[in-house]
Amino acid sequence: MTSCFDLSGRSALVTGASRGIGNAIAKSLARAGVRVFGTASKPESIPAQNDEGIDYSAIDVRDKEAMTELMHKISHQCGKIDCLINNAGITSASPASHVTPEEMRDLFEINLKALFTTCQAYYAVQRRNGSIINISSASAIRVMPGTSFYGSVKAGVIQITQALAVEWARKRIRVNCISPGFIKTDMNTHLRKNEKVTEQISRAIPLGFIAEPEAVAGPVLFLMSDAASYITGHNLVVDGGAVSRASF
Ligand code: NAP
Repeated sequence: MTSCFDLSGRSALVTGASRGIGNAIAKSLARAGVRVFGTASKPESIPAQNDEGIDYSAIDVRDKEAMTELMHKISHQCGKIDCLINNAGITSASPASHVTPEEMRDLFEINLKALFTTCQAYYAVQRRNGSIINISSASAIRVMPGTSFYGSVKAGVIQITQALAVEWARKRIRVNCISPGFIKTDMNTHLRKNEKVTEQISRAIPLGFIAEPEAVAGPVLFLMSDAASYITGHNLVVDGGAVSRASF
């Protein structure tokens, strides 16, 4: 009897799979028997070591045509794309008064608009019976220093998730979201270099530590699996309890 958690023989596309959370997701999926396709923003970012056999392409997520072409390729090779994981993203940490038009443009175009157009491309190629997992952020739910525009854009990701879940439910395409809290990646190396800041952040997290990127991979595997077949439009917060904590 196969388990409802079994993912072997399935296919998935992970954007931003070259580093950090996306790389941990791609590797975990590959180890679970999924045929994994991953993107990086440029050829130099594609990891030299690739023991899991991930099929990498260098595509800027803002290039909808190239993303569509890649999806046609996957669909041709695998017959379907069981899951799209929209993970690629950037951050910025500026007080609201200092956020520049360029920062706003990039955050909007990469974290929100490209995520939406990639969902559109997936829908056009897959047509029915699929799953999308969008990566938002705990900053979409709780205000964190310097994340006014980033958090707003990530809140949009949760809204897109719910809207598409409702629109595409009849096509049996489930759309869910994961909102990570503080995860050890290049995105926050500068903060973690400061021991005092790391200690402060860890103290604010009920579980008491900053998680490794693999902490986000397990929830992705679950949401992609048949164990989550009745879950759509959900935002799963993966943050060690941080957003649940009262701040007084
Ligand atoms: P990361 O280590 O900085 O990795 C970002 C990934 O996105 C890289 O693979 C990067 O590709 C790719 N990327 C960025 N811009 C792109 C573009 N225009 N086109 C294609 N790919 C692009 O970041 P991370 O911490 O793993 O973050 C992954 C996701 O989780 C993001 O959406 C982020 O907002 C979210 N998140 C992170 C945290 C955290 O604490 N780390 C918390 C909440 C949410 P290259 O390698 O080519 O640059």
